[in-house]
Amino acid sequence: EPASPAISAGGRRRRVLMFPLPFQGHLTPMLQLAGALHARGGGRLDITVFHAAFNAPPDPARHPPGYRFVAVGEGVPSGDLSFPSGSDADFAGALLRINDRLREPFRDRLRQLLAEEEEGEADGGAPACLVVDSNLRGMQLVAEELGVPTLVLRTGGAACLVAYMAFPALCDKGLLPPASSQDKAHMEMPLDELTPLRLRDMVFSPITTHANMARCLEHLLDAARSSSGVILNTFQELENSDLQKITDGLGVPIYTIGPLHKISSGIESSLLAQDQTCLKWLDKQEADSVLYVSLGSLASMDEKEMLETAWGLANSQRPFLWVIRHNMVRSSQQESLPEGFEEATRGRGMVVPWAPQLEVLGHRAIGGFWTHNGWNSTLESICEGVPMICRPQFADQMINMRYVQEVWKIGFELEGELERGKIEMAITKLLCMEEGRHMRQRAKDLRDKAVKCTEENGSSKSAIELLLKRIMSF
Ligand code: UDP
Repeated sequence: EPASPAISAGGRRRRVLMFPLPFQGHLTPMLQLAGALHARGGGRLDITVFHAAFNAPPDPARHPPGYRFVAVGEGVPSGDLSFPSGSDADFAGALLRINDRLREPFRDRLRQLLAEEEEGEADGGAPACLVVDSNLRGMQLVAEELGVPTLVLRTGGAACLVAYMAFPALCDKGLLPPASSQDKAHMEMPLDELTPLRLRDMVFSPITTHANMARCLEHLLDAARSSSGVILNTFQELENSDLQKITDGLGVPIYTIGPLHKISSGIESSLLAQDQTCLKWLDKQEADSVLYVSLGSLASMDEKEMLETAWGLANSQRPFLWVIRHNMVRSSQQESLPEGFEEATRGRGMVVPWAPQLEVLGHRAIGGFWTHNGWNSTLESICEGVPMICRPQFADQMINMRYVQEVWKIGFELEGELERGKIEMAITKLLCMEEGRHMRQRAKDLRDKAVKCTEENGSSKSAIELLLKRIMSF
């Protein structure tokens, strides 16, 4: 990768500070962004990653020269920074706690770094700015206080950010929070101002309180509006009209530079060891034949859902690669498969604790992805032209599902209670029927657009040049 013209023209050596949220789906895009900036820096752009001691980036020693990793809040109990996995997770409460617990320790660390710089003890470039996860308003306030400009990385899609921006108005209208007495039909109400979203897509967790959710979103929007720019991991050709709404609504520069994993590679970010043997197994399968099943790093299921999923996969008679993550099954000590399952699926299925997802989705054998629709998984699936069975649980996942189903038409929701017969039908529809074939074709068309935007003069490639220019101007 040649150095960016912005760097060559920018003169002195600079350092970009970063602070990711300590979860897989946030850590990965931040480290990809680090890789993208560093690669274009021609040796004149250094990176310092501040990170929680909990869920710390893996093996910092393996990163190339120019990177520094600084742990923050080592004394903070990890229970304060995590949340119990599953759809019953109070993630808004966790976000508020993370901001609260890490703010003071971060102030100390940042002060220290700035002091070293002032006294000429620092090696590498002078700090240009802090790129902070959009959920870390607390860290942004520290940077503001110490005179460090900030950029915000929003790791979700544009549609989700537009929905978050509309949240206060929906509250004012009395639509949110929905009264607990509201029936199912009411929850399906289309939201005219957010087509194609429905009211239920805006209930971000079954247990997070509305007050906590509202506070989190207020902080997120404050972070975006008071930053020097918002960086988005999506691409113009995918979310054009929502990106326009964000540009109009936030009043700060927007840098749309995704899909980040196609812009940057080589930075190790997986918190769990990826089972590589499944790639060899995939080599032996026919093209477009295998269903890849994964709920990402946080979503979970109960024991009954696990059982139904197992028999749905078995009865479908289709090949599958199933990620059963440690602690994915709620209230169960071990993720045991039902009796007779292995026999029924021998040679046709593989189960792993964690997969090299990018390689898996890019493998010619994969014909579909049963996903929880975390934004990274959704975008990764789009970038490999893989259609989806959607089973969203919380946060932005319902919104992503809605776009997959209604806007891009590259998948469909597996709705209601999980039941083996329904699962079997969904798999058949995606992998064996005309409808599924059309979805796959549309997904492949989107993949081609994703490739274009990262090429020379592509929208994301140009945006990253503007971002570098901005960084060098601080
Ligand atoms: N992932 C992976 N191996 C797996 C499952 C997931 O490497 O077996 C990666 C996946 O590629 C994605 C991230 O974990 O980059 C999950 O992020 P996402 O936003 O999809 O969901 P979250 O985990 O934040 O709910």
